[in-house]
Amino acid sequence: MDTHEVNGRDNVARNQMSVAAFGMNIVAGQERAGGGEPFRAIDPVSGSYVGSDFHAATEKDIADAVDLAVQVYNNALLTPGITVPILNTVAHFLEDWAKVILETCTGETGLSIPRLESELARTSDQLRFLARIAERGERLDAVIDQGDPEGMYPELRKVRLPIGPIAVFGASNFPLAFSVLGGDTASALAAGCPVIMKAHPAHPATSELCGRLMANAVAKCGLEPGWFSLLQGNGSSVGTQLVQEEGIKAVAFTGSLQGGRALFDIASRRLNPIPVFAEMGSLNPVFLTKASIRNRGGQIAQELAQSISGSAGQLCTKPGLIFLPEGQEGDFLENDLANAFVARPAGHLLTQTIYDTLAAQFNQTSLIDGVDTLVQQTQTSNDPGLMIPGRLFRTTITNFRTHPELQSEHFGPSAIIVTCPESEFRTIPELLEGSLTGTIFFESDESELVSELLGELIHKVGRVIGNGVPMGVRVARGMSHGGPYPATTSVRDTSVGSAAIDRFLRPVTYQNIPNELLPLSLRDNNPLGIVRQINSHLTTDSIEI
Ligand code: NAP
Repeated sequence: MDTHEVNGRDNVARNQMSVAAFGMNIVAGQERAGGGEPFRAIDPVSGSYVGSDFHAATEKDIADAVDLAVQVYNNALLTPGITVPILNTVAHFLEDWAKVILETCTGETGLSIPRLESELARTSDQLRFLARIAERGERLDAVIDQGDPEGMYPELRKVRLPIGPIAVFGASNFPLAFSVLGGDTASALAAGCPVIMKAHPAHPATSELCGRLMANAVAKCGLEPGWFSLLQGNGSSVGTQLVQEEGIKAVAFTGSLQGGRALFDIASRRLNPIPVFAEMGSLNPVFLTKASIRNRGGQIAQELAQSISGSAGQLCTKPGLIFLPEGQEGDFLENDLANAFVARPAGHLLTQTIYDTLAAQFNQTSLIDGVDTLVQQTQTSNDPGLMIPGRLFRTTITNFRTHPELQSEHFGPSAIIVTCPESEFRTIPELLEGSLTGTIFFESDESELVSELLGELIHKVGRVIGNGVPMGVRVARGMSHGGPYPATTSVRDTSVGSAAIDRFLRPVTYQNIPNELLPLSLRDNNPLGIVRQINSHLTTDSIEI
């Protein structure tokens, strides 16, 4: 038997939940050991290896996962809602198994238990939220345009159908909410698409446990195991083969710009190119007016210091560029921010790669002409882990204009303060690359200045925020978590909120097709009871014959 074969635990996932991770891939409910060089997670706090050895999924594992996903997809294409019970069931399992998952996850990521508890709650809420949206058929966009009695115009019935098996890549910094059971997996399943998850190598045991919960949920709902697979891997080969597989119809990715762009390019070079929905790094510019600093500069400085250094700055919505007005107010804010920032403890970075990248960026940025290190946090002596003291840099708008490298994300506890005459704020957005968010702190009598700045900023971000830091991405219908490149590779989409489901649906029109051959969503008697647009009116009514 090949090393990657069943390894004595065939279908364990179906029958019982184990309290430990064994170093497994899960291919459609079947646990497999993978092959090749072993790898292990590193605890960022102790700097030591933790947990079992893992082996990357083999070429056969990947091909099998995709083939089985294609089968379940083809069988369920016209059955919207079939996957809804999986989402509710796995949310329940996640809560039942919270203790073991949190313990495993804190060991692999160094993230604190309270931080992970809130991430876990958000993850199960998100699974249930997307289940409700799918159950109501909200994103199906069912439209019926009846033909005219004279037969001049044909009858058209349109609905959105699941696009096919999805390759999902999770990020290191949200091991629950943007990982195996995270928003991309949940929205793909809510759309009716099977998921093949490429686990992040920084938290393989957390991924295995969450993957087992998902495999169990699929089995408990009486569905075929091909709806979900989990592939481990450390290095680009598993992800590359997965995206090249003919049966994969879209990619959802959360992670670095380098990773997202590489997968986008691989997907584009396929014989049949497929969409890649990559949410990548972001600078999240923040602007402060003089009046806002005069009225509450001290409080804003505290909020900014917290959001630059919280989770050691490893959040995709961390403010990375702070634009301050030149003059006394800007000087005050800079001073308050520096004091508040340096008073906060240095944090641990999630992976050696993130650590090495940030350390190199700190060196490079401090060598740029006209850029000063404003303040640096204190290093805890003899820390054995991936701890890095955070840094704030400072420069002027003139330097910023001539140094495009200041726009590379410093993923960690760091931000660049740029001073600029307040009257020139509105000229700044055109210099900026795309971001997930943009923030303006202002006072209520500053509508003219703010409206001009907002008018420019809106071209560069997916969410604009007034008087608040950009942290905390609410899971709701109104959320847009996206933005122009390089924040994402798909400017029209969001990875959070109900519209995240749309990424995995495609419109199909049925023209003059008999009622009994239509999908349930388009039949005359509306058996799903969903809202549809019939001859331009939104209604849940049936069609009278
Ligand atoms: P990462 O290194 O890009 O890894 C993400 C996943 O992609 C991993 O499974 C990785 O697997 C795979 N991957 C990366 N490069 C690949 C390649 N060339 N070919 C095939 N697979 C590849 O990301 P990370 O370290 O987790 O994330 C840090 C970044 O994510 C930050 O920049 C942060 O801003 C961003 N982030 C964004 C959001 C958002 O919503 N926009 C949320 C969280 C984080 P292998 O290592 O096995 O190749």
